[in-house]
Amino acid sequence: MFINFIVSIPAFALLRILFIPAMVWLAVQNQSWQVGLNYLFDAPIAIKAIISFLLLDYSNYIWHILLHKLPILWRFHLVHHTDLDLDVTTAFRFHFGEMIGSVFFRGAAIILIGASPVMVLIYEVVFEAATQFHHSNTKLPFKFEKVLNYLIVTPRMHGIHHSMIRKETDSNYSIIFSFWDRIHKTVRLNIHQNEIVTGVPHYADERELTIGNLLKMPFTKIRKWNKVERIEEG
Ligand SMILES: [Zn+2]
Repeated sequence: MFINFIVSIPAFALLRILFIPAMVWLAVQNQSWQVGLNYLFDAPIAIKAIISFLLLDYSNYIWHILLHKLPILWRFHLVHHTDLDLDVTTAFRFHFGEMIGSVFFRGAAIILIGASPVMVLIYEVVFEAATQFHHSNTKLPFKFEKVLNYLIVTPRMHGIHHSMIRKETDSNYSIIFSFWDRIHKTVRLNIHQNEIVTGVPHYADERELTIGNLLKMPFTKIRKWNKVERIEEG
C-alpha cells in the first residue's frame, strides 16, 4: 500500500501539476483554433456537453486497450497491474511513463472532440473519482451492484480486469461508463469477487516488487504471461 504512494509520487506530481491544467489549457487554446467535432455544428450547450463527456470516456476506453495491446505501453501499464491487492491506493500506482503517454493521447482526444475547457475539467474530476471507486475493492450488495453496473464500472467489474487469468485481464477496460465494454463485447462479469487472484503471473513475488524495481520495470525484459487457470472446486 505504501509502495503505491511512492511509485505514484512522480506520476502523481505530473498528474496534478501538469495533467489536468494542461488538458484544460489545451481546450482553452482550442477555443481560438476551433478544431474538432463540437466546433463543426450548432447545438444546445447541454447536447455538446453530453457528446464531450461520452466521447472523452470512450477515448479513455480505447487508450486502456492500447495500454494492454501495444507492447511498449504494456511495459508501463504492467506496473499498475502488479499490485497484489486492490484498494484505493492502486488507483495511484501508475508509472510516470504511462502518464506522459496519456498526456499526448488524451490531449489529441480533447482536440478531436472539440471539448470545452469546462467539460474537460468536469470529465477529469469525475474520471479521478471513478478510478478511485472502481479500484476500492468495495463489496456492494449484489442486486444494487448489478443495476449500477449497467451504467458505470463497479469495483467487482474492474477487479476482474486485475485478475491473473489472461482472458479476464483482457476484459473490462472501461473507466466511467461500463457500456463501452458491452458494445465491444469485451465485458466479463461471471466471476465471483472472492475468487479472483489479483496481479500478473511471474510478477507476484512481493519481495521483488520494490519501489526501485517497479520504477525500472518498463526498461527491463518483460516476462511472458504464462497461462494460469483457476482451480475449480467440486
Ligand atoms: Zn489495465
